[in-house]
Amino acid sequence: MAERKRKRKAGVLLWFSLLLLISLGLLFGAAWMRAAEAEKEALEAELAKNRMELAIRRTTDARRAAIMKAKAEAEEEEEAQRISAKDAFLARNREELLMLVNPWNMLPEEYEPHVVEIGDGMYFDERAAGPLAHMLADAKKEGIIAVPISGYRTMEYQQGLFDDKVLRVRANGFSEEEAPAEAAKEVAVPGTSEHQLGLAMDILDVNNPNLDWTQQWSPAQRWLMEHCSEYGFILRFPDGTEEQTGIIYEPWHYRYVGLSVAKEITKAGVTLEEYLGKG
Ligand SMILES: [Zn+2]
Repeated sequence: MAERKRKRKAGVLLWFSLLLLISLGLLFGAAWMRAAEAEKEALEAELAKNRMELAIRRTTDARRAAIMKAKAEAEEEEEAQRISAKDAFLARNREELLMLVNPWNMLPEEYEPHVVEIGDGMYFDERAAGPLAHMLADAKKEGIIAVPISGYRTMEYQQGLFDDKVLRVRANGFSEEEAPAEAAKEVAVPGTSEHQLGLAMDILDVNNPNLDWTQQWSPAQRWLMEHCSEYGFILRFPDGTEEQTGIIYEPWHYRYVGLSVAKEITKAGVTLEEYLGKG
């Protein structure tokens, strides 16, 4: 009897244990599945997030590429414009640097030089101002004091100079009819002075204030005549060239034409008129 009871008890225990095991198994299984599910969801969420970021990046990259392309095109365009502007500037530069102004070639009416102030109330072409300062400084290093006295002149100023000369000529006995022609031998008729170009400078020796032929022997003129071409200048009205230039010998009047042309003109020993084939 006791044996049977014990066996039954053991049977019940066995069943119970089995049931417990199954329950536990089910419980753990469910938990594991839930964890796996959660992990899968998290992975999917991350995947979705990644996809979204990728899409954004792709759009950003595309936009950035488009911006860069537009920028490159704009730069290319700008460069092309800069090159053509530079070409135009160089052409204009050469044309203006060699512009012929004399009694037979009037200054173009619309001409407006780009001048800068160079001190003492004087103005000079912006391209020639630097070389002028350089030239005078180098002369000074050798003890030569060359003084610039007259650079750019406006039409009004040239007119004033001319009118003044006409009056002085008349005071010397010339008639009203003769005076302008006589005055024009020494002071350019307004519109025909290359001072109006802003490229001509009258330079005197510090010890000789006279605008006459005695200048040629002064240390300043001797130095300038020898060296001015090294700075892009020429002695514009050399002795014996009055027929071509229409202006008397002026050993103080220097014209900027740029370095290479100044050297060519000086080497050839010609006037600007001859150099330009208009002599
Ligand atoms: Zn002059």
